[in-house]
Amino acid sequence: MLNIVLFGPPGAGKGTQSERLIEKYGLVHLSTGDVFRANIKGETDLGKLAKSYMDAGQLVPDEVTINMLRSEVVKHEAPKGFIFDGFPRTNAQAHALDEFLASLQTEISLMLALEVEENELKTRLLKRAEVSGRPDDADPAVIEKRIAVYNNETAPVKAFYQAQDKFVAIDGIGSIDEITQRLFSAIDTNH
Ligand code: ADP
Repeated sequence: MLNIVLFGPPGAGKGTQSERLIEKYGLVHLSTGDVFRANIKGETDLGKLAKSYMDAGQLVPDEVTINMLRSEVVKHEAPKGFIFDGFPRTNAQAHALDEFLASLQTEISLMLALEVEENELKTRLLKRAEVSGRPDDADPAVIEKRIAVYNNETAPVKAFYQAQDKFVAIDGIGSIDEITQRLFSAIDTNH
């Protein structure tokens, strides 16, 4: 299997690039943010819980997120692989993902980390708010909070994959196509 963690701060382009990667490599796209948003729309208990954290720019608690992720993974029969988009976002999630994949006789192949500087992220998120309707994109204070949470809790996850020699940094500035090509060549040379 080809299992990729697509990593990067909010607004780095993970969702956009995931679409390109699943098409080329036939992978399943698993975005924890998308699953939470679908639950909010469906007014499920999980959605109600997740919304209170997401609207404030905070992380949904690890236990809830990990359980949700596991139940999403097992929905797919004989997948070629997964793109994990927005997961893992904490070291506890990264450990849980490793253990879970090991129980399925597989593992993470690669972490691809999109690198984009902070001012560019803020500009992109406010622009996305105009079309996404996402309340967490529309409020500059919530954007600040999400970036701070990324720096404090999520960025350290890089070291987890660096220690396993699975980490590749990708320049996330450029046209969408240019960045897609960088991701393709990182996958093709490292897998
Ligand atoms: P972005 O990367 O643009 O911030 P996402 O759609 O990936 O957007 O996530 C939106 C929100 O969903 C996050 O700010 C967080 O509240 C919640 N969320 C998504 N993935 C996770 C996760 N792995 N752990 C905890 N919370 C998460």
